[in-house]
Amino acid sequence: MKVRFQGVRGSIPVSGPAFARTGGNTTCVVLEHEGERLVLDGGTGLASLGQDLGCTAIDTTVLFTHVHWDHIQGVPFFAPLFHPGSRITFAGARTQWGGIEDSLRGQMRPPQFPVGLDAFAAQLGFLDVDAGHPFEIGPFRIEAAEMTHPNGVFVYRIDAGGKRVVFATDVEHGEAIDARLIEFASGADLIIHDAQYTRREYQGEVGPARRGWGHSTWEDAVEVCTLGGIERLALFHHDPTRDDAGVQAIEEAARSRFSGAFAARESEVVVL
Ligand SMILES: [Zn+2]
Ligand SMILES: [Zn+2]
Repeated sequence: MKVRFQGVRGSIPVSGPAFARTGGNTTCVVLEHEGERLVLDGGTGLASLGQDLGCTAIDTTVLFTHVHWDHIQGVPFFAPLFHPGSRITFAGARTQWGGIEDSLRGQMRPPQFPVGLDAFAAQLGFLDVDAGHPFEIGPFRIEAAEMTHPNGVFVYRIDAGGKRVVFATDVEHGEAIDARLIEFASGADLIIHDAQYTRREYQGEVGPARRGWGHSTWEDAVEVCTLGGIERLALFHHDPTRDDAGVQAIEEAARSRFSGAFAARESEVVVL
């Protein structure tokens, strides 16, 4: 299984020379196996994937962890949606605010956006995902679990070709590591884990306390790996204020505690 990082940033996209090495697009990860593709989240990284693919006919599912802006904002700009031969399925949780279709329609509505989902020529599908009910998309076997985040979030465990990836962005552990995630992610080959803050930032020693904002520290992410016997850690959902030097400092600190840690950077590919 191949893992490609299309967008690794949290909250809002960023640009400029200080962010060039890490990349500025918000969350989007592409898994590839046996010639098939599964897209995780549709932040502005999805728009950059669309630029790579061009307006071509594709048959792909985009699986959403949740529908905060930084995870859906690339959808209206995903070029293959404009090809009539494309079949694109959007999958995610049904919540008290509706299903994934309601959220994507809501994003593309005047006066905030000039055209709706009807502007796309592609054949669209929508799929409700339930926690604890495994399902398959092509060669990928997928299971979702709920974790702690404002308005809710799913983490996904994805198996293909004998390898296991866990996508755990936008999760908050709080004062103790969430035992549900340890159990769910145990033994994974790779976990892509929220690492938006440092412990000092989270606790309010640098700027405001970030408790309740829905995110993890890199220290949490490392602890999940050591407790869960996980092989590799991609530090993910970098804070928009974190420049390349800041990301590298966190990467080095994490690696000194857990040798399998690395910072997710845009356009990088990990082969499992
Ligand atoms: Zn986010
Ligand atoms: Zn979020």
